[in-house]
Amino acid sequence: METQRVGVVGAGTMGNGIAHVFARSGHAVVLCDVEQRFLDRALETITRNLDREVAKNKITAADKAATIVRIVPVLDRTNLADCDFVVEAATEKFAIKAEIFRDLDRICRPEIILASNTSSISITKLAALTQRPEKIIGMHFFNPVPVMKLVEVIRGLATSNETFHTVRDLALKLEKTPVEVNDAPGFVSNRVLMPLLNEAMYAVLEGVATPEAVDEVFKLGMAHPMGPLALADFIGLDVCLDIMRVLQDGFGDPKYRPCPLLIKMVDAGWLGKKSGRGFYKY
Ligand code: NAD
Repeated sequence: METQRVGVVGAGTMGNGIAHVFARSGHAVVLCDVEQRFLDRALETITRNLDREVAKNKITAADKAATIVRIVPVLDRTNLADCDFVVEAATEKFAIKAEIFRDLDRICRPEIILASNTSSISITKLAALTQRPEKIIGMHFFNPVPVMKLVEVIRGLATSNETFHTVRDLALKLEKTPVEVNDAPGFVSNRVLMPLLNEAMYAVLEGVATPEAVDEVFKLGMAHPMGPLALADFIGLDVCLDIMRVLQDGFGDPKYRPCPLLIKMVDAGWLGKKSGRGFYKY
């Protein structure tokens, strides 16, 4: 079945980007959040990002106008009932996602695939809350969504091949590159990236090098566009800590122990770029 109308639950950093790429590729989008001001902010961000694409000649002004009108902001989740596909990009808390998945399972037609953009929550566990575990899947976009090519497509234990292939094809229609991954703590991206960032923090904690020096090593020696500590600041140190704890709990292996400096900085409210201070000052 052709996916025409896409529901996006959560209109924050990721949700607005996901709405942007679906609408830009011709889908009608129903964008849902809990407060009008979050929807207004999302539409402002999408408009600004589309303007940037027009300025760079990636799309025309007419494409921008057509994209914006395809997005319908809603507060009432029952408006998702006529969607052909729904992706959830709400706050990274299991209780919030559990409530959303139970409700979507009730609202959406039984044949509809429900995807989550979670960075760390088990797809298998979300699937078990619904009557359609074979139709639950991870569709993990990267920030900023309109720019980043990768989509990790995560199979829960019960995800069917049909669901996987539908979501993979959908990612290709968005001009993204889907990569197949099985459900495991941190999937591939965060399982490998977060311990790197955490280890860079240990190097600073132990006085091996300054944050600037650690980042220089990775930029110049490994051709990373951003050093690990600048990247941690960009992601948010609280988010990094949450993901390290998911890895630590999920694997029970001490190698995932969060760096004490990371814990201390989060306790101090030094959350990186968004709070004005992290390994760097902003
Ligand atoms: P965010 O805080 O910017 O946005 C979350 C949005 O969800 C907010 O607007 C909030 O109001 C909304 N929300 C909360 N409860 C809701 C509910 N019950 N119904 C509808 N909307 C609700 O967060 P984000 O960075 O966009 O992250 C969203 C998801 O994407 C998380 O699962 C996160 O792990 C994942 N993710 C984030 C990134 C990133 O770099 N920020 C990258 C990949 C994946």
